[in-house]
Amino acid sequence: MHELSIVASLFEILEEKAKEKKAEKITSVKLKVGALSGVVPEFLETAFNIYKKDTIADEAELKIEEVPLKVKCEKCGAEIIKNDYVFICEKCDSRELKTLAGTELLLEKIELEV
Ligand SMILES: [Zn+2]
Repeated sequence: MHELSIVASLFEILEEKAKEKKAEKITSVKLKVGALSGVVPEFLETAFNIYKKDTIADEAELKIEEVPLKVKCEKCGAEIIKNDYVFICEKCDSRELKTLAGTELLLEKIELEV
């Protein structure tokens, strides 16, 4: 479960940010998880809840926004949300697709209490 190591580095960032802002605690953490990021949101949440005990984010709520895979066809310009991960344009059958979103794993927002 590589989500654990992701959460470990996430907490390094959280503690750094909290120190920076002289915060007492972190109340909420929002992540953006792309469909192709290789991270399972459920595992991430479980790992987060295990890891947060006795940290500055002890009472923090984790919010995960799942980002679907979005591609753009280089040939006809269509922008398509892909649920099937088949890299073929539905409009013109081209395989020249560019990924616009869905591979990201981002720390979107942290709420702190000072
Ligand atoms: Zn196309």
